[in-house]
Amino acid sequence: MRVRSPWCVWTFLASALGLGVTARAEPLIAIRAGRLVDVERGVVRPDQVVLVRGEKVERVQPASEPVPEGARLIDLSRHTVVPGLIDCHTHLVDQMQSAGAAAPLETSAARQAFIGARHARLTLLAGFTTVRDVGTWRVFLDAALRDAIEEGVVSGPRMAVAGTYVTTSSGAGDITGIAPDVVLPLEMRAGIANSADEVRKRVRELLNGGADFIKIMATGAVLTRGTRPGVPEFGEEELRAAVLEAAKYGAKVTAHAHGAEGIKNAVRAGVQSIEHGSLMDDEAIRLMKERGVYLVADIYNGDYIASEGRRAGWPEEYLRKNDETTEAQRQGFRKAVAAGVPIAYGTDAGVYPHGDNAKQLPYMVRYGMTPMQAIQSATIEAARNIGWEDRVGSLAPGKHADVVAVEGDALADLSSFGRVAFVMKGGVVVKGP
Ligand SMILES: [Zn+2]
Repeated sequence: MRVRSPWCVWTFLASALGLGVTARAEPLIAIRAGRLVDVERGVVRPDQVVLVRGEKVERVQPASEPVPEGARLIDLSRHTVVPGLIDCHTHLVDQMQSAGAAAPLETSAARQAFIGARHARLTLLAGFTTVRDVGTWRVFLDAALRDAIEEGVVSGPRMAVAGTYVTTSSGAGDITGIAPDVVLPLEMRAGIANSADEVRKRVRELLNGGADFIKIMATGAVLTRGTRPGVPEFGEEELRAAVLEAAKYGAKVTAHAHGAEGIKNAVRAGVQSIEHGSLMDDEAIRLMKERGVYLVADIYNGDYIASEGRRAGWPEEYLRKNDETTEAQRQGFRKAVAAGVPIAYGTDAGVYPHGDNAKQLPYMVRYGMTPMQAIQSATIEAARNIGWEDRVGSLAPGKHADVVAVEGDALADLSSFGRVAFVMKGGVVVKGP
């Protein structure tokens, strides 16, 4: 009786408040899928129906089974249907395409917020219903965008946000290349730390302030003036301080790391994932595999920078560092895939135009993945990397109804994901029939 009575009270209250009635009144949608990609099992199932009730997936069933009465039918029988895509490395608020050192100083925070809203909409319409947004120059602009999307003020993907970069001063996540007598506003220096103690302080400030995870800069960067991709910036001690402090909050840490030493420092320190991984060696690959550390390698945008960046007159230094890392990164990626390192999809959107996020999919096949593995990296694996596999990443009962469709047999040509025909986020159709 002790066990039963609270339950009885609850069911009585729920029915008195009409909660049961509300749940039953939620709209039911039946999506008829010609080909449904089951990313958990790695197979394509012909002629399936995804039943969506309200914001969630209720059930997936063969098209031969009867559909409940009153369901609204969406016919995607000529399409390949996949779970909403996930990009684990975006910068929705920033536009780095201009890539000048002082670019973050050229727009006000208010204008930057509106620019971010445009990028969020473009990303969602491209079929990316979730992103892990890995840094903005002005602290918490990303959190504001995330909240505006959740409140329905702005149309965009679900966002996990970093708040800003945790970085050494003059390092990869600082604004460098400006005159030494120019003082940056505090909101652009909120992630700067130069000791393990300062790292812990920054991690607390960011997580208390609303960040979902921590992005820490373990090495120099391609697109930060003066810094060197191969050079470690934070050491293992500072990186471990970030991991342990974030763990108190149940939060993960991802490390920006190009050079092999920086990658290994970060992996030994216990990070969740490595961003870029451009100059990794065999030992780094072995360590990542051993510890189940995800590789998030942006293997498309090197081509964009080499052609468009050069045409647009980006600094010679950026173009040179891009040339020094692009091919090395792709060969490292190939080895990591062969070694069985877990791979999560991440593109560095913002370096190239937002909304082109799917352009990296065919590159991943070119450098060693099967088409199914590439799609898994951008769905279920990306969800696991963020720690959101309980809510997104596959079309399983109880998960958010985030659904994307492409005409024809999408696995035969992954470039077709650049032309998604249908996007649903949380049971709401944002593009398509
Ligand atoms: Zn980035």
